[in-house]
Amino acid sequence: MSDVRVRFAPSPTGLLHIGGARTALFNWLYARHVGGKFVLRVEDTDQSRNTQEAVDVIFRGMRWLGLDWDEGPDGKGGTQGERGPYFQSQRGSIYAKHLEKLQATGKTYEDGGALKFKMPKTPCVVKDMVCGDVTFDRTVEPDLVIRRKDGSPVFHFVNVVDDLEMGITHVIRGEDHLSNTQKHIALYEALGVTPPQYAHIPLILNQSGSKMSKRDDGAALGFYEDAGYLPAAVRNYLCLLGWSPGANEEVLDIHEIVKRFELKDLNRSNARFDAAKLFWINGEYWRAMADSEFAEFAKTYLAKHRPTAASLSESLRDGLLRVIREKIRTGKELAEWMDPYLTEDYSYSPEARKKQFSNPDAGKLLHGLEQGFAALDGDLTDAAAEMICKKVAEDAALPKPAKVIHLLRAAVSGHTVGPSLFPLLTVLGKKTVVARLGRTRSLFDSGKLGEAT
Ligand code: GLU
Repeated sequence: MSDVRVRFAPSPTGLLHIGGARTALFNWLYARHVGGKFVLRVEDTDQSRNTQEAVDVIFRGMRWLGLDWDEGPDGKGGTQGERGPYFQSQRGSIYAKHLEKLQATGKTYEDGGALKFKMPKTPCVVKDMVCGDVTFDRTVEPDLVIRRKDGSPVFHFVNVVDDLEMGITHVIRGEDHLSNTQKHIALYEALGVTPPQYAHIPLILNQSGSKMSKRDDGAALGFYEDAGYLPAAVRNYLCLLGWSPGANEEVLDIHEIVKRFELKDLNRSNARFDAAKLFWINGEYWRAMADSEFAEFAKTYLAKHRPTAASLSESLRDGLLRVIREKIRTGKELAEWMDPYLTEDYSYSPEARKKQFSNPDAGKLLHGLEQGFAALDGDLTDAAAEMICKKVAEDAALPKPAKVIHLLRAAVSGHTVGPSLFPLLTVLGKKTVVARLGRTRSLFDSGKLGEAT
């Protein structure tokens, strides 16, 4: 146990930005590393943006990443057995109390209906754990509005009041807040309270080197959930945006990261978001998943994105998932690769039409394949499928069976790429393979598989 108390204080904007998710993660890592507390505080004072959906996006993202938070507004459990979080919109009386305290110091004055705080005009040194000592010359610093004309307190004031009320010891947040910190320190000093320690973490830049914004592709955490990335992989990648485990290590179990995570090791320089690296890390986690874990992941992802997959027989579904998994790395790819087998009315891709079905010989070969599989005695095995392909190639006087194999893939799946073909055929089974060959042959014979259609 430790006295460390950190917080993630998002404003509900409608999405959880990658940068926000990383801030939440670093706070969580530090709390778990030292055995302190991690508080979630929703800064929802902007009524125009404050919707339940926007708040839910934050919770969902944090749960997806496995960032559990501690304690609740009343010190008891929250809903669904969870603790917390705090909502600024419910803390009006606390802000009013502190506003009175501040007014009593004589450091505020009314101006046009708003309440202003007299900013000190002396320099302020922010001693930041990441950025070092940063000096703000405040000779021309304007006074700070702390309560608007309409009576609502402003961000700087409620942020400071909450940090002191919640006993926050370390403020870990994005570097974009560094210039606010001198204002916050002035408020702490006026209230006679020692400010927390600060650690402003570097910005995340997009591929072209500018600050990653909402509009960048993949800027929202939800994008990765939808695309079927593995949350542990995304979390691992986010850890590397401004922190490094050292020794060229990149793929690391979260328990190991928690063990090693120190604020002093945070990078000073900005971190560049590298979508290819994230995809690669996801692939590492994808390969390492236990079969049972993969089965669970696939079931959940398909239930949401391909509900019809539930109507496949268990053995067919499991077999397909097994052969497809080897060739792909995300849930989205998994769903797309499942598509040809979710209906017998599957479609044929433009490449398949162009490369496989624009050849007039294809009809003869399809016919041979259909006959060959239909005549097969016993189970369809890899070896049996290979034999059939060889035989059809020989009958057509082709030197190699490659052409026949490519055509077979396009005929049973409608695509030119897919899982390893022979294992796929054995999963589909003889009956389905024959039926699919028959369907393709008859569409081909009636001229419906040409490029133009
Ligand atoms: N609500 C502020 C934001 O989302 C939080 C600032 C802070 O962490 O202190 O940027």
